[in-house]
Amino acid sequence: MNLSIYNDIQNFVGGEFRPTLSGNYLDNINPATGELIGKIPDSNERDVAEAVEAAKLAFPQWSVTPVEKRFHILNRIAEIIDEHLTELAFAETIDNGKPLWLSRKVDIPRASANFRFFATGIMHFATESHNMEDSAVNYTLRQPVGIVGCISPWNLPLYLFTWKIAPAIAAGNCVIAKPSEVTPVTGYLLAHICKEAGLPPGVLNIIHGRGNTTGEAIIKHPDIKAISFTGSTRAGERIASLAAPKFKKLSLELGGKNPNIIFADCDWDKMMSSSIQSSFSNQGEICLCGSRILIEESIYGKFKKEFVERTKQLKVGDPLDESSKQGAIVSKVHFDKILRCIDTARQEGGKMLCGGTKVQLAGNCANGYFIEPTVIEGLGPDSQTNQEEIFGPVVTLQSFKTEEEAVHLANATSYGLAATIWTQDISKANRVAAKTESGIIWINCWLLRDLRTPFGGMKNSGVGKEGGWEALRFFTDAKNVCVQL
Ligand code: NAD
Repeated sequence: MNLSIYNDIQNFVGGEFRPTLSGNYLDNINPATGELIGKIPDSNERDVAEAVEAAKLAFPQWSVTPVEKRFHILNRIAEIIDEHLTELAFAETIDNGKPLWLSRKVDIPRASANFRFFATGIMHFATESHNMEDSAVNYTLRQPVGIVGCISPWNLPLYLFTWKIAPAIAAGNCVIAKPSEVTPVTGYLLAHICKEAGLPPGVLNIIHGRGNTTGEAIIKHPDIKAISFTGSTRAGERIASLAAPKFKKLSLELGGKNPNIIFADCDWDKMMSSSIQSSFSNQGEICLCGSRILIEESIYGKFKKEFVERTKQLKVGDPLDESSKQGAIVSKVHFDKILRCIDTARQEGGKMLCGGTKVQLAGNCANGYFIEPTVIEGLGPDSQTNQEEIFGPVVTLQSFKTEEEAVHLANATSYGLAATIWTQDISKANRVAAKTESGIIWINCWLLRDLRTPFGGMKNSGVGKEGGWEALRFFTDAKNVCVQL
């Protein structure tokens, strides 16, 4: 299997690679060079309908395939991903712009971990029984939902695509999946891997294209009964408005504006290196990155000085260069959006402590989309900059005097995805964690993930949880059977 060819991406339907029925294609650009990687299908509702027909043919058999067999196939997919780590990491980097070392260390290993995790998870997935003394017993049957839609974003392309697909097929569903049109390559390569691993035709169908056309065709299709979506809050709102009247199951993992709460009694060195990572990893394009850094007033000056010095040392460069800490912004559209947000911060009176402009590289990357890691101070909690998700290498600093004020600032947005809390006082840490309106809280760490834990946001950051049993429950329908004794 050659996973180095992806200039002519095709849809994957019923186990075969097919051109789009629309006849239209989109350009796929390498954001580090501005060069064309290749073309991708700009699919329409006919492509989605064809995929649904293939899934319908596969479902009766797949839904009753013994879990041991599903385990073997999913586990084999994980092994093949690992065997092709080098090609997949390279593909992810030229498609997304993230540093190659990051794709190799995080994105691709996590994709195989997702398959391995749900391969074993389905072997241990048990259901409940409720006994009514000597009169009756109830047991819960958890059956696959049927045909489900999985739609993912561009920031962690294969990582998030597989985080949805693996539990869906492990639970016995057939899937219509769409990766982001901005980063379609590893989703396309996954189709080759699944075929090689022996996944039966029609169990996984991958349709490429834009959100408002291909994506909406998936959402609207009457035979697709559940939708797992990760992306922006704006798109989540639109999807909910289309799916809710059809009573489809919905899991929405949306945007964030995460606070990083730093108390004076924290472990300084650990906090500082972790805060640099939580601010700028993956160019700040991780939904879990902290973009509002809240610092106790007594250490504000010290924090600002060291944080800005360390931010200035982050090398922005060619993602293929092992020494680059920051790669390219994923697309021209997103690059322009981030620069506009920085301009807004300036207009609102924000002071640029470092960064604030694009980076012009030489050589191969002269036409790439690079932005300096940017630190801004002087903006209040109600400013647009502190309210709206930027999703780039841009953070703000704000100070607080008391624990109550820290919590108030942390909760002062419509989002509620993730938060970090830095303090050596464990009681304070737990108090603040309980009061912070975020679905995921890290105390004295960041991005430490146990795949069994519930994952998802509060408020405008989403509805429903992924991860562990939550995902397997989402992708199954519970049926109670009551047996009179
Ligand atoms: P996006 O919402 O523009 O697109 C995400 C995916 O949805 C893409 O595949 C896109 O084609 C599709 N899409 C867009 N509009 C659609 C519609 N109307 N119907 C169906 N599909 C549609 O998001 P993006 O710009 O690709 O990703 C960045 C966003 O994702 C950020 O807001 C970020 O916070 C969020 N995100 C959230 C999580 C999380 O777990 N909560 C994880 C990663 C990214």
